[in-house]
Amino acid sequence: MNQFRIKRLVDQAFEQAELAKEDIKALLTADIAELDYLLQQADQKRKEVCGDEVHLRAIIEFSSYCKQNCHYCGLRKENHKLERYQLKKDEIIETAGMASELGYQTVVLQSGEDEYPAAEIAEIIKEIKNTTDLAITLSLGERDFAAYKLWREAGADRYLLKHETADQALYEKYHPGMSFENRIESLNYLKTIGYQIGSGVIIDLPGQTPEILAEDLLLSQDLKLDMIGSGPFIPHEQTPLAESKTGTVEMTLKFTALSRLLLPLAHIPATTALGTIDAEGRQKALLAGANVVMPNVTDSKYREKYQIYPEKICVNEEAGDCRQCIGGIIASLGREVSQTKGHSLR
Ligand code: SAH
Repeated sequence: MNQFRIKRLVDQAFEQAELAKEDIKALLTADIAELDYLLQQADQKRKEVCGDEVHLRAIIEFSSYCKQNCHYCGLRKENHKLERYQLKKDEIIETAGMASELGYQTVVLQSGEDEYPAAEIAEIIKEIKNTTDLAITLSLGERDFAAYKLWREAGADRYLLKHETADQALYEKYHPGMSFENRIESLNYLKTIGYQIGSGVIIDLPGQTPEILAEDLLLSQDLKLDMIGSGPFIPHEQTPLAESKTGTVEMTLKFTALSRLLLPLAHIPATTALGTIDAEGRQKALLAGANVVMPNVTDSKYREKYQIYPEKICVNEEAGDCRQCIGGIIASLGREVSQTKGHSLR
């Protein structure tokens, strides 16, 4: 694309946080070598809106049981080769306490859709709130609305539920038995009852087009997301998409940069998936609009059993190592680890 048009579109996005679908698509289709200005301006916007602080969100992957069969995910029910585990209530609370001692301000409780009893999750939330000063994000997939409400009342602050793709047909193809409508309704409901909501997409899912990615950004604006994440698709051997191509660093960075310009107030993570396909992936995202990193604090004996995708980084590390390593990455970029909770900027 010609550099004048790139500059005009990027300047418009920078100033108005708005672009037409065709223009978003044009930027997503341009060669990354032509897009220095897009990445620079996204970094500039990040600096203006978020400053140099990077928020850390400690993830506890507390259960790999899942009743769903998402075509891309290694935790899918029909992956009979995966050894499943589920942390007990006390283990989850203990891990959260350890995360707090390591200096984390937020803990993310993530699992497959394992139907962990809603009342027990509520007790875990209350106990973490009583014993630490942590903000709590839930990332448990879709549950009934009563459960979302119960957990909010128990003290959960945020809910992370990626819409994965804004294309209904593609969504329903890859999520057998699930509906796109329910996904979006869940996000809207979560917002209504006071959660800060995070969502996002898998980049380069087979069948996804730049047009669909443009729709992902427009949908994310409509949803008024507090957080938007994007990670490249990574094929997992025990899934129907085993033979498909890995997503690209380039498309993930373009999407990250556009997320910052079109949703300037959103928190944007440099994802573990991007760090998995490129050793410098998270650094690159932090220089293209991202302001969040989500280190793993799950006990190392469970990590390799939470194989959403293969070769996930840090599987052999301990929580303390991850904290140090991430701190080093952030310092090397001249940025600093935030000492605040990093609540929504909206
Ligand atoms: N059960 C929860 C958590 C899912 S795992 C939920 O449904 O929200 C967290 C995220 O991992 C998913 O939302 C998806 O975006 C991502 N993911 C799963 N499989 C992947 C793969 N093969 N490649 C890249 N990202 C993947």
